[in-house]
Amino acid sequence: MAQLSDRMRALVQPHLAQIEPYDPAFSQTRINLSANENTYPPPPAVRAAVDDALAATPLNRYPDPMSNRLRDLIAARGGHSRRQICVGNGGDELLFNFIMAFGGQGRTLLNCPPAFSEYEFFASVNQTQVKRVWRDPETFELDMPRTLEAASRSDMVILTSPNNPTGNLVGAHEVEQVCEACPGMVMVDEAYIEFADPGSSVECLLPSHPNLVVLHTLSKAFGEAGVRCGYVVAAPDVIDVFAAVRQIYSVNVLTQAAAEAALRMEVMFDPVVRQIRAERERVVAALRALLADVDAPSGDPAPAVWPSQGNFVLARVPDAARVRERLRDEHSILVRDFSSAPGLAGCLRITVGTPEENDEVLRALSQLIKEDRS
Ligand SMILES: *Cc1c(COP(=O)(O)O)cnc(C)c1O
Repeated sequence: MAQLSDRMRALVQPHLAQIEPYDPAFSQTRINLSANENTYPPPPAVRAAVDDALAATPLNRYPDPMSNRLRDLIAARGGHSRRQICVGNGGDELLFNFIMAFGGQGRTLLNCPPAFSEYEFFASVNQTQVKRVWRDPETFELDMPRTLEAASRSDMVILTSPNNPTGNLVGAHEVEQVCEACPGMVMVDEAYIEFADPGSSVECLLPSHPNLVVLHTLSKAFGEAGVRCGYVVAAPDVIDVFAAVRQIYSVNVLTQAAAEAALRMEVMFDPVVRQIRAERERVVAALRALLADVDAPSGDPAPAVWPSQGNFVLARVPDAARVRERLRDEHSILVRDFSSAPGLAGCLRITVGTPEENDEVLRALSQLIKEDRS
């Protein structure tokens, strides 16, 4: 999408005049490993249950605004009460509403980049100032002293765990310190938590930290990116805010039905998640082997592959933008190019797909990178 026309620039709210829409850089390819979706087909029994649920859903009636059946299901599996859950039209809607409700003019969001670019986009739409504390340029760990100092002067903090696109977790102790330092609200975005080592979620901190909000989505591990369903877990009075600002019917009847069916059959996703985790380790090892004796062009940082707790791997390769283009054009494989994003020079993010997809991307990368050296 282009920039706004001059005519529209004069008519929209002044702070929107320079806005650039989020670009997922999508193009049609044979293999799409660019958006961190679950590329495995849904377990057939889950797909059948979703289809049955959709077929049984009346379309002529408005949805239950608060998705209460879904809330109860989510609450029961996490040991929460219904009043601690708000469901949204994707995690994105909840992120937007979080910033809309707690940000705005004169308020500050603390962001720790490199992180998910939507945070700053939603902040700009909501006239919310952004304060940045950059992660360590090599390990991508949080800079805790500066993060805590900035959190103490921010109205909101968003931390991503596992972080997109760097793949590392934020520890519970760090989240606890940020919650204590920040006078406002702290969101931990756990979109990829199902792929992390067990026990990595910070939901256990909710009872002791009433300013904590934990975000989840069905778009990643549950393979329902097209369904658009996410939820937040927080203290009941925080949920009251999410409930008050939301568009009343944003979670449609089909989404509620499909999400319920998937969550009821949650155990069927365990083998999928296990395989993605195993494939992730295989992809990391293969990429490291591939890059082991590759030199960076002089002046560029050395090739690297970071460990990941998500369903994606971040790798720094020579000539990344061109490699991504050639993967797309010569192999019809789409990965995400972050090489021009601040703090991510030379980096590509590759979603972990099925074993066949992973084999193909590894083969293609090996060919492109080796060819380059001969
Ligand atoms: C995918 C993702 C989300 C949520 O995506 P939805 O599809 O809107 O639920 C949130 N945060 C991060 C970091 C993500 O990568």
